[in-house]
Amino acid sequence: MPEPLLEIADLTVSVDGKTILQNINLKVQKNEVVCLFGPNGAGKSTLLFAVLGYPKYHLDSGKIFFKSQEITHLSVDERVRKGIGIAFQHAPGLRGVKLIDLLKLSGNSEKEQEIKTLAKKFKMEAFLNRDVNFGFSGGEIKRSEVLQLAASSPEFMLLDEPDSGVDIENVELLGTEINEMLKGKSGLIITHVGYILNFIKAHRAVVLYEGKIVCEGDPYQILKDIKVKGYKGCLECPKCR
Ligand code: ADP
Ligand code: MG
Repeated sequence: MPEPLLEIADLTVSVDGKTILQNINLKVQKNEVVCLFGPNGAGKSTLLFAVLGYPKYHLDSGKIFFKSQEITHLSVDERVRKGIGIAFQHAPGLRGVKLIDLLKLSGNSEKEQEIKTLAKKFKMEAFLNRDVNFGFSGGEIKRSEVLQLAASSPEFMLLDEPDSGVDIENVELLGTEINEMLKGKSGLIITHVGYILNFIKAHRAVVLYEGKIVCEGDPYQILKDIKVKGYKGCLECPKCR
């Protein structure tokens, strides 16, 4: 096995003194797309925030490596510059910041025409001169978030429920674009409902349950099993015990 692009080793994370994640071990290889399943409150978003290094998420133990280099003590900004990017589950609105200006600042190109072409793919041309995510509908916020990730096109993409609260047409648009974005890259995608997997080629999945990884395997098979037996079924699955 080559060195993983991202390695999470024995990570225990707490927020405000409460342990949320316990002894998480996860490797993501180059060109690999891993799905992260789990019920509400399992700690999925917490894991993504910990990978990005938000100070609120305290590491009680463990290390994170990116491209074989330990990044555990790096700032969010330093991690982003190393090639980790995120599309948030609950993206904040930025009053006074126009979407086009954010894309110029954080994206790989400042050229207006290139940004407009990319925005068009996400049906976001009409939103470029509006304040980021301000007054956007649920689907528009998701398109805006994934557009921002597409503009910076990091080597490793964290996607937190890009299909939640999104109608069928938007899931198709987002899924198709995310699948394109992930070509030659790696990602960790949280999906609660799994709709996005109809459009994305994912290689592996892990199930997070009450802060622990309880199952690992083929994402499409795990999703099928979850739909039949619920997340509790993962705990009883003979393959994982
Ligand atoms: P998921 O994304 O799997 O739905 P989260 O990672 O958002 O779950 O949350 C996991 C648990 O951690 C929840 O019980 C949530 O209430 C708690 N939690 C997350 N963030 C905070 C915070 N900032 N302060 C206190 N508790 C938090
Ligand atoms: Mg979440």
